Amino acid sequence: MDIKILAAMLLVWGVFLTPSCLAEEGKTESDYEKLRGQMVYSQMEKRGVDDVRVLQALKTVKRHLFVPEEYRDQAYNDYPLPIGEGQTISQPYIVALMTQVLELKGTEKVLEIGTGSGYQAAVLGELAARVFTIEIVEPLGIRARETLKSLHYDNVHVKIGDGYKGWPQYSPFDAIIVTCAPTEIPQPLVDELAEGGRMVIPVGEAQNQNLVLLTKTDGVIREEKIIPVRFVPMTKENGGVY
Ligand code: SAH
Repeated sequence: MDIKILAAMLLVWGVFLTPSCLAEEGKTESDYEKLRGQMVYSQMEKRGVDDVRVLQALKTVKRHLFVPEEYRDQAYNDYPLPIGEGQTISQPYIVALMTQVLELKGTEKVLEIGTGSGYQAAVLGELAARVFTIEIVEPLGIRARETLKSLHYDNVHVKIGDGYKGWPQYSPFDAIIVTCAPTEIPQPLVDELAEGGRMVIPVGEAQNQNLVLLTKTDGVIREEKIIPVRFVPMTKENGGVY
């Protein structure tokens, strides 16, 4: 075949065919918005999440931008996803449930232990005044900080380090959310909880964890089990677990 004809054919293929192929592969922002709406209805509202502020935050935060590119299409599905470094982003329903029990009104200072992808922190950023979040795995902390910055979550502050002792400099916190599981509730976190504050935390060994809601009223701590869960363990800087 004449080389010029071949070149012309390739040009035609490149100009007319490639864009439509790409369009079939990738979803648009409005496709993702639809998926978010469906996620909120079928995974959250139908299961009893009814705080309208929480539902609105989950419709707003672009979860697909917090997961690795190869999982973007699955970002709104009803299960956790890998985020690298052997860690996972929680199932959307668990994010909704944990957020709802904190009963945020908008004025609070919140502490999160286990930044991971930064998704839960972004949801909290929509619902509270200030969010402080700690991640022990440096590459995850750095990536989450960048994602949050690119999406303008300027009220969310990411620190890299061991969250077991909390972040005393900014305590007390009106709400604390822990997204990795220690075998016992860390006392430093209980101490950093404000009077009238609420803490949600998965507690227990790998195969036997419960989500616990802890409240502090007149200095008295009350604990309530919510549901059985499965989170990654809370780790120490030397690689051990709490
Ligand atoms: N909330 C996250 C998911 C958390 S997965 C999200 O929305 O994506 C649990 C995270 O806790 C992991 O990233 C893990 O590295 C982190 N982690 C484990 N032990 C920790 C500790 N002692 N201090 C801070 N982060 C810890």
